[in-house]
Amino acid sequence: MPISLTLLAPPPKKRKTPMKRYTVVILALLVATCITYIMAKDPASTETPSKEAQAISMTEEQWKAKLGPERYRVMRQHGTEPSFRNAYWDNKEKGLYLCAGCETPLFSSSEKYRSGTGWPSFWKPIVAENVGEKIDRSFGMTRTEVHCNRCKGHLGHVFEDGPPPTGLRYCINSASLIFVPKDEIEAKGLAEYADHVK
Ligand SMILES: [Zn+2]
Repeated sequence: MPISLTLLAPPPKKRKTPMKRYTVVILALLVATCITYIMAKDPASTETPSKEAQAISMTEEQWKAKLGPERYRVMRQHGTEPSFRNAYWDNKEKGLYLCAGCETPLFSSSEKYRSGTGWPSFWKPIVAENVGEKIDRSFGMTRTEVHCNRCKGHLGHVFEDGPPPTGLRYCINSASLIFVPKDEIEAKGLAEYADHVK
């Protein structure tokens, strides 16, 4: 008898292994159902989504209008701004860095460091899930591109030559960020992130 038929058949009267076999079938079905459910689930349709989880859907024209030419070029067309000639590479003020596309808090001054590259550099994001990664093979190099997980706006790249404790260097375009100074965090409704700015 083929194995599948044996597995699906009702448990024989014999006492030996049928219960065990039946349990395995039920467990396998449960696991399969769970996997199907998880894979089919659309994060955008969650009933009570957090701010970070809500997907942003805008046309290119809407993005152009919202971001302006420079931010649009960097965030929606994977552009790179010039080093040392951008807003935050040398910003030493304490505060939060939000995504310029959707205002999701992405980085904190607490994890910003002087990389010498001329771009704002961080050794970790505030919340790892807010920053997505993708392999980028453009310009004959293999790099890891990073983007805002909510609006998918391009941020920059992450490299493995950063300082401890992570050893990572998030090299981010200033054009992809909006800086909120520490004393304005509450007024912007971001009090829950205040603890991230030491
Ligand atoms: Zn965003």
